[in-house]
Amino acid sequence: MTRGPVLLTPGPLTTHRDTRRAMLRDWGSRDDAFITMTADLRRRLPKIAGAEQTHVAVPLQGSGTFAVEAAIATLVPRSGKLLVLVNGAYGERMVSIASRLGLTVAAERWAEDQAVEAARVDSLLAADPGITDVAVVHCETTSGLLNPLDAVASVVGRRGRRLLVDAMSSFGALPIGLGSGSSLMASSNKCLEGVPGIAFVLAERSAIAAAKGNCASLSLDLHEQWRGFEANGQWRFTPPVQVVAALVAALDRLDREGGPAARLRRYGENFDVLSTGMARLGFSPFLAPALQAPIIATFHAPREPWYDFAAFSEALADRGFVIYPGKLTRAESFRIGCIGALGAADMRRFVKAAQTALAGMRLLRRPVGVSEGHASARCSSGSRST
Ligand SMILES: *Cc1c(COP(=O)(O)O)cnc(C)c1O
Repeated sequence: MTRGPVLLTPGPLTTHRDTRRAMLRDWGSRDDAFITMTADLRRRLPKIAGAEQTHVAVPLQGSGTFAVEAAIATLVPRSGKLLVLVNGAYGERMVSIASRLGLTVAAERWAEDQAVEAARVDSLLAADPGITDVAVVHCETTSGLLNPLDAVASVVGRRGRRLLVDAMSSFGALPIGLGSGSSLMASSNKCLEGVPGIAFVLAERSAIAAAKGNCASLSLDLHEQWRGFEANGQWRFTPPVQVVAALVAALDRLDREGGPAARLRRYGENFDVLSTGMARLGFSPFLAPALQAPIIATFHAPREPWYDFAAFSEALADRGFVIYPGKLTRAESFRIGCIGALGAADMRRFVKAAQTALAGMRLLRRPVGVSEGHASARCSSGSRST
């Protein structure tokens, strides 16, 4: 199989050849074939969350953040107040978005290795009747932590507020119940395994219909985007036609795999192979097992004088694997994604590559005082250190 690098990153991810092949033609934005494809996409996305009766899909050109920004700008009224639950970089991003939009925003923060707590959210909502909307990240991709979405949703619902869920790195694999009063944001290129370029919001039909005039931005106005789709089935502005085609092909693959439950099983196997293998190599995980989603794993950087992330990732890249450094504010770490068109065999190959990379670093980066004999081993090892 012809294959580029294996991306063990938080996205974009490794995609299947058939998904990329679906892009090998042109469509005009007004072609019947393309309008049908868009309709198919809009019909299938809410089904993944079992929300086809209540929610509509509003796709948007751009990366995931575009949908987060569009949802906050459109669904939170300008006179409202947004409470953002933060335990990582993506929660912080929602705080920045809301502040820049000039919305009244409150942030409640937890440590990066702690789940948000529904009970605390309940007290905050009880204490501040001005809060109209709450935003939470489902799987916080900063660390890989799974927040207790159902508990938060039930508290927010009981208190009569609306909920925005950043389900970017969970939608398509982890189960998500979208109740009334909840909307969700996700994108083409994470657990759906499409190529990057489309984000989307699943919004309650009544909420999106009521959101007219909220959004000060023209291109991010989800209400207008929705009205465009409903009026003539077309995207308001130039659609990423090939990305739509790839996403529809990716949804076909998801169906053939057996839906989100089957996909989650595959990711779970990937995660198990990875975590067992990494533990054997001496790496310790950042999160307690109970908080970990099988989406992306964060490992502490070894505290060895010879360890260097740049050298480690370069040695892995030489063997075909791309990994990214951690995004934590405190601990030095790196992250390994378990999602994408990958299986347990890929993860086993990765663990082997990591083992080889570590062995090379131990040899190459010995502390000063290394003997002549070792210096020649250094020249013959074949991997680069800078
Ligand atoms: C990937 C991701 C996003 C969006 O990132 P983009 O780079 O804009 O696609 C937002 N939230 C979470 C939790 C994510 O994992």
